[in-house]
Amino acid sequence: MRFKTKGLILKQQNIGERDKLVWILSDSHGVLRAFARGAKNIKSPKCAGTGLLVYSQFSVFEGRDSYSVDEAVAIEQFVGLRSDIEAMSLAQYFAELCLNLCPAGQEAGEYLRLVLNALYLLAHHKRPALQIKVCFEMRLIALTGYLPDLVMCAECGVYESDEMIFVPHTGKLYCSECADRMGVQGVRLPRAAVTALRHTVYADFEKLFSFELKEELLEPLSFASERYIATMTQKDYPTLQFYKQLSGSLW
Ligand SMILES: [Zn+2]
Repeated sequence: MRFKTKGLILKQQNIGERDKLVWILSDSHGVLRAFARGAKNIKSPKCAGTGLLVYSQFSVFEGRDSYSVDEAVAIEQFVGLRSDIEAMSLAQYFAELCLNLCPAGQEAGEYLRLVLNALYLLAHHKRPALQIKVCFEMRLIALTGYLPDLVMCAECGVYESDEMIFVPHTGKLYCSECADRMGVQGVRLPRAAVTALRHTVYADFEKLFSFELKEELLEPLSFASERYIATMTQKDYPTLQFYKQLSGSLW
């Protein structure tokens, strides 16, 4: 059976001299692994269409227990990423997260829309990289069902405080008084950073990436979201470590 779908190449692996194995986050079938015959031939449109982090229109053949790519035509290659190693390394972390967290064998349009928007903003430097990272991480993990509880202090119910403490391994928020009294360990976030964190989870998708936050507050926020996703998924991401080395992160 053949079907057409649009999708993003999350990972590729060379098979011999001519062929590739690719992992696609597809609109219609979620993450699928497919064989792409002849995709290493640079004269073939399949070559560009199956490049890493390229968004393409695919024609896929579904065999009994495997998929193969018949056609791949690039729609968006995010060329801005290709000349910026730091942005590219962050994009590869996004791809690793998608590989681990996006569903397989079912529709995944929301996930695809999220990662395409993040890559577009990153490739065009439309937002600070850490802001894109926080939005992507928090919205992705929320889509998979791990919703943090950011509405109020988990202990006393206060909604706002000058500083609140986010606990990555529970996804709960505490006001500083309760956290100090109870000895809660977590990431200390000033009021503006808490507002931004709530926005990444609760805002309408159209407004997701649109907020203003001082650069120095993005660092702790980004640390909070990456710890949350790592503890919820019980996994460390090598691509994240690489990005942090490149970007000189102190967190
Ligand atoms: Zn409290």
